[in-house]
Amino acid sequence: TNRRWDDIWLAGLRDTAPSTIFDEIISGDIPADVVREDEHVLAFRDINPMAPVHVLIIPKDRAGLTSLRKATAEHTNILGRMLLAAGEIANDETLGFGDGARIVINDGPDGGQEVNHLHVHVLGGRKMGRTFG
Ligand code: IMP
Repeated sequence: TNRRWDDIWLAGLRDTAPSTIFDEIISGDIPADVVREDEHVLAFRDINPMAPVHVLIIPKDRAGLTSLRKATAEHTNILGRMLLAAGEIANDETLGFGDGARIVINDGPDGGQEVNHLHVHVLGGRKMGRTFG
C-alpha cells in the first residue's frame, strides 16, 4: 500500500529539527563502520569508543525523535525495533561483546546527549562499573 510513504512524508513534516551527522551516515555521505542494518534501523561503531566495543543504533527515519523525550505512542514500533537490535547486538560475540553489555540512551543536554537523533549506545568488551557518570 501507499501507507508507508504517507507515514514517511508526514514524519518529515513533523520533524522540523535540523539534520545531524547521523543523517549523513544514513545517506552514505560520510562513512560508518556498519555492523547491522535493516529497513528501519542502522547500527555502526562509535567513532570515539568509550569501551572496547561501542555501537550506536539509530532509526533511519528520525520521525521527530530528536530525543527519547519526544517519543509518543506512534513511535512504539521503532522503539521496540531499536531495543531488540540492542539486545541482538549485545549478544553478538563476533563484535567483541562478552557476557553482557551496558545499554544507554543519553537524553538532552543534562543527559549528555550531543547528537539530536535518537540513538542507543551498546557498550561492552569489558566489565562495567556501577557508576553512570
Ligand atoms: P550522545 O552523546 O549520546 O549524543 O552520543 C553521540 C555519539 O555519537 C558520541 O558517542 C560520538 O562519539 C558519536 N559520533 C559522533 N559523530 C560520529 C560519527 O561520525 N561516526 C560515529 N560516531 C559518531
